[in-house]
Amino acid sequence: MGASLAKIDDAVWSKFEIKPAANPTPEKERAAKLADPGFGRVFTDHMAIVRYNQAMGWHAACVESRANFPLDPAAAVLHYAQEIFEGLKAYKRDDGGVNLFRPDANARRFRNSAERMAMAPLPEALFIEAVEQLVRIDSAWIPGGEGSLYLRPFMIASEIFLGVKPSADYIFAVIASPVGSYFKGGPAPVSIWVSENYTRAAIGGTGAVKCGGNYAASLRAQAEAIDHGCDQVVFLDAVERRYIEELGGMNVFFVFDDGSLLTPPLGTILPGITRDSIIALAKESGTPVREELYTIDQWRTDAASGKLKEAFACGTAAVISPIGKVRSANGEFLISGGAAGPVAMGLRKKLVDIQYGRAADPHNWIKKVL
Ligand SMILES: *Cc1c(COP(=O)(O)O)cnc(C)c1O
Repeated sequence: MGASLAKIDDAVWSKFEIKPAANPTPEKERAAKLADPGFGRVFTDHMAIVRYNQAMGWHAACVESRANFPLDPAAAVLHYAQEIFEGLKAYKRDDGGVNLFRPDANARRFRNSAERMAMAPLPEALFIEAVEQLVRIDSAWIPGGEGSLYLRPFMIASEIFLGVKPSADYIFAVIASPVGSYFKGGPAPVSIWVSENYTRAAIGGTGAVKCGGNYAASLRAQAEAIDHGCDQVVFLDAVERRYIEELGGMNVFFVFDDGSLLTPPLGTILPGITRDSIIALAKESGTPVREELYTIDQWRTDAASGKLKEAFACGTAAVISPIGKVRSANGEFLISGGAAGPVAMGLRKKLVDIQYGRAADPHNWIKKVL
C-alpha cells in the first residue's frame, strides 16, 4: 500500500474535475425543500468522488451530478463491511459567507479510521479539498438561520472479490444534506436508556473509529431504548459493565455542583470533535474538566444527592443535547429536574456562535470556504 500511495502527487489529485449537474433542482423546488429539510432526507445536486486502486493510488477526483454508484454484487463492502464515514457541517454566516468547523480534525480522524479498517488512507488535504469543492458548488443549498449543510464524507471497499482481505479498490465520496435547526425552540432534554444487554465497543475493537459497523451493532440497543420509552441509548464498558461510555452516536459530559465537568476518557469511545471543542472551551473559561471513568451507580447516587447538576450529550448533528432522564432495568432518575441546565446551554451557545462566525475564533477552528 505504501508504494502505491507514493504515486499520489499534486498533479494527480489536487485538481478536481468539475462537472456541474446538467439538470439541477429548479430554484423554486429547492426553496421548498430548504423551508423544512428535516434531517438526512434532502440532498444537494452534486457529490464529490475520488477513486483508489493499488496501481494508480487516488485518482479521478471529480465533482459531478449526484447519482447512484454502479456496484458489483461482489463488492467487498457489501460482504465484509469495510466502510468508514465522517460528519461535519457548513454554516452560513450573517455576511453571506460560509464556514466549515475544524475540517482538518475530520480529515485526520478519517485517516485514522481508514488505518484501523485496513483501508487506503486518504490524504488529509484531499479530504478537505473534496469537502470544500462540494460546498462551493452546492452553496445555494445551505439553509440560513440556525440551519446548516450536513456533509457526509465516506469510503467504501469496492474490489470485486469474496476472499476475506483488505480491498484493493476504494471509492471515497462526499454528499451533502441541508438540515434545519436540530431543535426548534431550543434543545429539548433527551431521555436515555442504559443498555445492560448490549455493549458498543471493547478494548482493541473499533469503538474509537467512525465505521458503519459500529452503528449496525448499536441499532438493537437503540431499539430497546425506544421500546422503553427513551430517546437514546447509553452504553456501558464491555468489561465491568458499569462505566459510562457514550451514546450510540454522541459523547457524554457530566456537570457537578462545584462547577467542574467530567467526560469519559478516550480509548473505546469515539473521539468526538464536539467533545474536544467543549473541553477546550470549558478549560479556557476556568472550568476544570476531568477525563475520567464514571459508573452508572455513581451517576445515580450523585443525581440523588444533588452533587450532579447536569448531564449532556454532544456531537456534530445536535451540538449539545441535555439529558433529562435516565432509565434502566433498575428504575429511573431525573437530572436537573428533567430540564435543560445552564452549563449545557452556555457551552452550546459558545460553540454555535463560533461555528456561525458570530464570536471570535481564537483556536482557528473556522475555515472560510466562501
Ligand atoms: C460521530 C460520533 C460522535 C460525535 O463526534 P463529533 O465529531 O463530535 O461529531 C460520538 N460518538 C460516536 C459513536 C460517533 O460516531
